Amino acid sequence: MRTAIAINPRHAAHDEPQHVEQAARLHAITAALNASGLRSVLLEVPARPATEAQLRAVHTEQMIEVVRWSATRPRSWIDHDTYTTSASWDAALMAAGTTLAVVDAVVSGSAQNGFALVRPPGHHATRAESMGFCLFNNVAIAARHAIDHLGVTRVAIVDFDVHHGNGTQDIFYDDDRVFFCSTHASPLYPGTGAEREIGSGRGRGTTMNLPLPHGVGDAGFARLFDDVVIPALRRYRPDLILVSAGYDAHWADPLGPLTLSVAGYAALTRRLKETAEEVCNGRIALVLEGGYNLKALAASVLACLEVLANDDTVVDPFGPSNEPEPDISALIARMHQNHPLLAG
Ligand SMILES: [Zn+2]
Repeated sequence: MRTAIAINPRHAAHDEPQHVEQAARLHAITAALNASGLRSVLLEVPARPATEAQLRAVHTEQMIEVVRWSATRPRSWIDHDTYTTSASWDAALMAAGTTLAVVDAVVSGSAQNGFALVRPPGHHATRAESMGFCLFNNVAIAARHAIDHLGVTRVAIVDFDVHHGNGTQDIFYDDDRVFFCSTHASPLYPGTGAEREIGSGRGRGTTMNLPLPHGVGDAGFARLFDDVVIPALRRYRPDLILVSAGYDAHWADPLGPLTLSVAGYAALTRRLKETAEEVCNGRIALVLEGGYNLKALAASVLACLEVLANDDTVVDPFGPSNEPEPDISALIARMHQNHPLLAG
C-alpha cells in the first residue's frame, strides 16, 4: 500500500511576504517533491474544504466567526502575529479539509500512511482562539473526525514542532480518547507545556509534555522517543497516530533553539512509523505545522516522506548540528516517576 499526500490547493493567497509563515514555505516543499521523483510513487488524494460542522466539533462558534469576519478584509491581524487575507477563510477551510482527506485515506485503508501538506498551520489554535500563525486546528479537527465518523476509538497526536501545541492540548485536555504528546523547547512561545500539565478529569494522564532545554537535538530526541514517547504510545495503544510535524526544531531554523537535523527528523518518523505498525496496523499521518528555514523545511519534509514511503535513502544536505547537547536524563527519569501513563 502506498503513502498518501494531499496539498492544500488554496494556500497560496493566504500570504504575507514579510511574515515567516508565508506561501513560499509550501512552494519550497512542492518544488523539492517534484524534483525528487518521489511524487510518482505517492498516492495523491484530492483535497476538499472542511465543513463548518467539522470546525464546530473542536472550535467555538464565536472563534469561527472571528476568522470569517477577519477574512472579509484584504488584510487583517487576529493577534500581533496571526494575519489573514481575503483568501484566508477558504485557505483555512481547505487546510483542515486536506488533513481530513489524508486521514480518511489512511483509516479507510486506501493508503498505508500519509502526509497532509497544509498551511496555515493549526496546533496553536485553541478551542476558542486563533493564535500563533494558526487559524483552525487542522490536526485536532482530523482527530475528532476520526473518532466521530470513522470508527476510531483512540487517537495519539505526537507534536514534534519546536513550539508547544497548546491549542491541541487545550481541545483534548479532559478527553481520554486523544493522547496528546508534545516535545518543545522551553522557554519559548507560547509558554505553556510544563511537565505537570498532564490532562484533567477523564483526560488525566492523556496529555504528556516534554519541555526541552535549548540545544537538544538528534541524540536527545532519539533517547526521548525510545525511553518515553514510544513506551507511552505502547501503553496508550491508539488506533491511529497523527503527528503535528513541525520542522522548526531543525538546527538551521530561525525561530527554534533546538538542533535536530534532517536525518534526525527522518529517524523520529521511522520510530513513529514502526510504532504505528506495532500498535495500529501502520496507520499514521503527518500534518505540517511550522518550519521556517525554507531549504531545511523542504529537505526535512522530503526525508520524512521517504521514510513513510519505505525508501531508505534519506538525503541530509545540511548534516548534523555540531553543538554539544544538554543532558536530559533527569527529565526522562521524572517522566517515569510521575507521568500516569508510565509510572506504575
Ligand atoms: Zn512551531
